[in-house]
Amino acid sequence: MKFLVHTYGCQMNVRDSEAVEAMLVAAGHEKAASEAEAELVIVNSCTVRQKAEEKAVGKTGNLCAAGKLTGLMGCAVKRLGEDVFKRLPRLDFAVGPRAIGLIPKIVADGCFPRLELGEEMMSEALASHVEGGVQAFVTILVGCDNRCSYCIVPDVRGHEYSRPAREIVAEVRSLVAHGVKEVCLLGQSVLRYGVRNAAWDGSDAPSPGGYAEAFPRLLEALAAIDGLRRIRFTSAHPKGCTDELVRAYREFPQICRHLHLPVQSGSDRILADMGRHYTRAEYLAAVAKLREFDAEFALTTDVIVGYPGETEEDFEATRSLMDEAGFDNSFIFKYSPRPGTRSAARPDDVPMAEKERRDQVLLADQERRGLERNSLLVGTVREVMAEGPSKRNKARWSGRDGGNRIVVWEVPPGEVPPRAGSIVRLRITEAHAQTLVAVPA
Ligand code: SAH
Ligand code: SF4
Repeated sequence: MKFLVHTYGCQMNVRDSEAVEAMLVAAGHEKAASEAEAELVIVNSCTVRQKAEEKAVGKTGNLCAAGKLTGLMGCAVKRLGEDVFKRLPRLDFAVGPRAIGLIPKIVADGCFPRLELGEEMMSEALASHVEGGVQAFVTILVGCDNRCSYCIVPDVRGHEYSRPAREIVAEVRSLVAHGVKEVCLLGQSVLRYGVRNAAWDGSDAPSPGGYAEAFPRLLEALAAIDGLRRIRFTSAHPKGCTDELVRAYREFPQICRHLHLPVQSGSDRILADMGRHYTRAEYLAAVAKLREFDAEFALTTDVIVGYPGETEEDFEATRSLMDEAGFDNSFIFKYSPRPGTRSAARPDDVPMAEKERRDQVLLADQERRGLERNSLLVGTVREVMAEGPSKRNKARWSGRDGGNRIVVWEVPPGEVPPRAGSIVRLRITEAHAQTLVAVPA
């Protein structure tokens, strides 16, 4: 059958969709070139904010109306449970994020409607990859137990579990053997890898080294794989920014000097209410540690504006923290109450217009800050992994430096373009808030 998977939400979902595609291909199905051609369409949904869920459910409704075999997978399914069929009466199947390994069987069985919310993450679903790319996502940690007050992720993705290191290392080896040059390790809080359960055998015992050991040791094991040029990981928590982690950065040049370190707020009062387990000062100490090690270390973040009770003063604290941290990029989210979370019990009392205003202020700040940070790099030579022709301008190539910054450069007509996945040395000539322009060095 010809199929297509539409993905909403985070990189975790991008990875899950890829696994579903790989499993369907292995089961004899074929990826469709367009939606019109597809006989089976699956939507991978997000539910982190209400808007995100509405988008995915809305899209699925349109597909159901088109009369194709339609499935919904991912976080919104787990949140909605059986209600998913009330919202989408013509939906054929719905599969929660930990049950995606069942999709090929569900399609083969052909008994609809069908709902699977399963708790066991299947290792086949974790390890299946689509071949051919130079970059790959690898899930190392599933679920989350942090229970930040606003967040629905623990409800829909289940308990935190670290995959056994030998499984991860074998998977990355196999990816590299098939041409992958860069891996990005995924988890809600990757630096917690091996903290809750032992990373070496996947058993339930916590690993003795805690934060200090398991993740840096995994990095060490991956850095030993020949042919793997770059290792990235996301997302991170400041508690995991240990001396051991910095040592891993220093020791292994393959580990990219970029960290996505969601801060959420710069106000201690709000951070405590959110249950983030760090203060503003502790967060900034983690930033200082990374930037002392390398002043060009790239930091990106997530921020929520309009959290219940967020005052103008709290908001200004977030603004000043963002400047102090000098974020290279940031993702701003307007607070959205999610059913069943702690903060949803409180009034959503920042008016939408004020959330919009705070959002715009932070975006404008980031535009200025991004330009300032990037301007410091003009004249430097950077190692850039070529990804492909730039989407905006076909005469240009696009790639990323170790800090995950987008770099574009001109390949003169007649010259052989670089191969995707090769690393080129470029001198930065021009800085923009979100991109750098370069020439071959
Ligand atoms: N596990 C990651 C975050 C996963 S959710 C971490 O803790 O680092 C991705 C982002 O969505 C969060 O960082 C947060 O900024 C945003 N988010 C989560 N719940 C939200 C909500 N209820 N309203 C608005 N934004 C939210
Ligand atoms: Fe949500 Fe917090 Fe877990 Fe991140 S760490 S997924 S924000 S509960």
